[in-house]
Amino acid sequence: MEKKYELTTRGRYAVALGAVLLVLALCFGFLAFGESKPPADYTGIWESHDKHWVYYEKGEPDADYTGAAEGTVNKQQGTYYVENGEVDLTYTGLGASETGWLYFNRGVLDNTFTGFARTGDDWYWVKGGTVDQSFTGTKSGTIEGETTWWYVLDGKAERTFDGVAKTKSGLCYFKNGKLDQNYSGIKFLDDTWYYFSKGKQDKNYKGISTNDKGVWYVQNGKVDFGYTGKVTHLGRTYKVKDGVVGNGKAVYLTFDDGPGQYTGQLLGILDHHKVKATFFVTGFFKNYLDCLEREAKAGHTIGVHTYTHDYAKVYNSEKDYWQDFEQMENLIQQHTGKRAIIFRFPGGSGNTISKKYSEGIMTKLVKEADEKGYIYYDWNVLSGDAGETKDSDKIYKNIVKGCAKHTHSVVLCHDIHEYTVNAMDKTIAKLLKQGYVLLPLDESTPTCHQNVNN
Ligand SMILES: [Zn+2]
Repeated sequence: MEKKYELTTRGRYAVALGAVLLVLALCFGFLAFGESKPPADYTGIWESHDKHWVYYEKGEPDADYTGAAEGTVNKQQGTYYVENGEVDLTYTGLGASETGWLYFNRGVLDNTFTGFARTGDDWYWVKGGTVDQSFTGTKSGTIEGETTWWYVLDGKAERTFDGVAKTKSGLCYFKNGKLDQNYSGIKFLDDTWYYFSKGKQDKNYKGISTNDKGVWYVQNGKVDFGYTGKVTHLGRTYKVKDGVVGNGKAVYLTFDDGPGQYTGQLLGILDHHKVKATFFVTGFFKNYLDCLEREAKAGHTIGVHTYTHDYAKVYNSEKDYWQDFEQMENLIQQHTGKRAIIFRFPGGSGNTISKKYSEGIMTKLVKEADEKGYIYYDWNVLSGDAGETKDSDKIYKNIVKGCAKHTHSVVLCHDIHEYTVNAMDKTIAKLLKQGYVLLPLDESTPTCHQNVNN
């Protein structure tokens, strides 16, 4: 039994050799480790082994640390970006430091960088490599590939800001934190209402502008509350009192489904009263398409109402809708040299008939229109000419009664009906007498939207 525990001579040599190798390994291991370990209490970057730079906190590696750190990397002393305890030379963006956010370019602090930089979803204004947290105002720069003016609050791009702010090129209107180049109209700042054209204050503008509060006289790019007198706008003269034009209410007459056989007559009536209206046009009546040219030349607004106005066709799918829409755009361009920016859905955005052809299509079309840069208008006053009545006098009464209820009345009429066109002379005369300002829709008109039901 004892023999079992005895080693052979060969076995004894093997054990001795093993012990020697173990001691050697420990020695070399200690030497290697000892060489790369920083002094106790060292805080910063230390090269641990080939091309790996580790962050040490008081002599101990800290694998949780992410942010800026000092040290020598590739024999260069500097400030580097550390991610989870190790220098990351692929990182470009912001990193936290004791003094604030710093900008790193491929892991190295970049003191020459000035512009916007991100961390996560947030963008910050960086000046000379450091986020300038004391800065509030506007800066021109690039965020998500878009170069424009941005509103900055305490160093951070405030992407929810909606209002007026100063830029180097004057006062500008900001929406969602960026210069809104689509905006024309008036906006309020410090007791004053300024007039903006494509997002920038237009100091040369003189005329009428509207907002949710009313219709105003603008001079030198500001609402002139001191003015009482007269103003001529789009060829028609209105009374002004303390900056308020007319009775302070605007009426937008809109005519759908044409041009048709009564459109010429209507254009004559509008011309006679020197008022402008809006036409939401179709390509339905081929013999009257020349009216598009007359409408544009007279200064009326033309909007798309689809080419066929066939519910089954246009509401079959989004693709069908935009194809038909585009066909009408091309026709408008052919006749007027310009494309329309505003449009009206057949049946309005609140129609439910589209449900029969495609569930949820209106919700999608409304979203797509916005993405394409189109503005749609529904209405808030019915003339009643879409089924309720064929009586011109009833149409006249419906409109006059309806307009009394709104600051901005968008009136739904159809110039394909003789009884509607016959009501217009009397209706327009009455509205003007009551002090309304009759305007064509444009991109600055407050939108008038129904609830989307499909
Ligand atoms: Zn229609």
